[in-house]
Amino acid sequence: MPVRTRFAPSPTGFLHIGGARTALYNWLFARHHGGTFVLRVEDTDTARHNEEGLGKILEGLRWLGLTWDEGPGVGGDAAPYYQSERQEIYDRYLAKLQSEDKVYEDDGAMRFRVPDRTFTVEDQICGSVSVNLHEQGSNRWDAELKQDVESNPDLVVRRPDGSYIFHFVNVVDDIEMGITHVIRGEDHLSNTPKHLALFDAFGVAPPIYAHIPLNLNQDGTKMSKRDQGALIHEYIENGFLPDAVNNYMAMLGWSSKDDQEIFSMEDLQGRFDLDGINRSNSKFDYEKCLWVNGEHLKRLEPSALLAAAAPFFEASGIDPTDPRLPQGLELARERAQRLSDMPGLVKPAFVKELDYDADAVAKVASREGIAEVLSALGSALSGVDDWSDESIKSAIHAAADGLGQKMGAFMLPCRVATMGGTSGPDLVPMLTMMGKDLVVNRISGFAQRITG
Ligand code: GLU
Repeated sequence: MPVRTRFAPSPTGFLHIGGARTALYNWLFARHHGGTFVLRVEDTDTARHNEEGLGKILEGLRWLGLTWDEGPGVGGDAAPYYQSERQEIYDRYLAKLQSEDKVYEDDGAMRFRVPDRTFTVEDQICGSVSVNLHEQGSNRWDAELKQDVESNPDLVVRRPDGSYIFHFVNVVDDIEMGITHVIRGEDHLSNTPKHLALFDAFGVAPPIYAHIPLNLNQDGTKMSKRDQGALIHEYIENGFLPDAVNNYMAMLGWSSKDDQEIFSMEDLQGRFDLDGINRSNSKFDYEKCLWVNGEHLKRLEPSALLAAAAPFFEASGIDPTDPRLPQGLELARERAQRLSDMPGLVKPAFVKELDYDADAVAKVASREGIAEVLSALGSALSGVDDWSDESIKSAIHAAADGLGQKMGAFMLPCRVATMGGTSGPDLVPMLTMMGKDLVVNRISGFAQRITG
């Protein structure tokens, strides 16, 4: 049977990394098996379409490239894909249960007669879980009386106001949409026996279940939307690459059989399967995510890098069409972890006026013989005809030799004079990119600044 998976978010207003990971696993599983990935909006609780609530979720999924084969905006045989538009279907399913006396009315609500037998979830990740819902629901804890009291184990499936509860619509839609594999967060594992009872009542074989262990903070607490890295939107704004975020999310709970950590989407599609999903909860590590992003930045095609980085350069006041930018990107990507780090790294080459770091200037200015160093540096560099890494390097070398010094003694003054600070990308290629006039002018301007 062809694989059909689904991501079924409620329109909460944001795409959380836990939800995005669930979407990714469903997407990868469907792609790996040549199947179909469905997007279904579970909006029965919100009464009407909550466009704002859904907007960020769709945007996040699109940014990640987790395109859906059926769902909002795409359509499909099982349309509509908003639960708020599927009332008739739910009514039909309820009528079927009613005709078989499997539900009954109770104070305006409809209750499903929970069978007095055990249902066993054979979960692909969590193992088997057996529950007798009838027994389990026959008592409930009364907080006031501080004791168990008898309760009705039968499950309310439709509220007195006519709205259906999550379990009912979730199961009906999984049937109607032909879902073969339900991959979702472990927080839904305890719901699954109820879902099995409903599948059984409808006389339909349930899908295969795979509940993914949770993704927690480093200290083991639940990740809230305020925690760093919790929302996909932050990644979009802060210069992450979608494939790097997918890569990191894939590793949050799944591992390949070897030690590989950096994957393209094609790699992941080829390798992802349920047996690689870990049984224990994962811990979110923002530093690791940054590292993964940096690795993806290093591997990106130059043209794709330019396209991705251009908005960040523009926002920093650097013309993204500057012909030197491709060179600047090559230098910046060696040190950047995010696209948003890149403009700052190479900015000195693209601005007229440098912002000098006062500490760096003071450090260089206090060096003995600095005036001679800068003057030797300036004249050596102004004598370079073919402005290239090699020629610049030998000119600095020769200037240092002339003063009986090591080349290293010239590098820091040169860096501070031309780039304004002590850190940044490799100096010589930066000088090459900056061009001779700018470099020579900056060195003489800097010499005047600290001596004059
Ligand atoms: N709407 C549910 C949620 O957002 C999805 C449940 C499921 O995947 O079955 O948690």
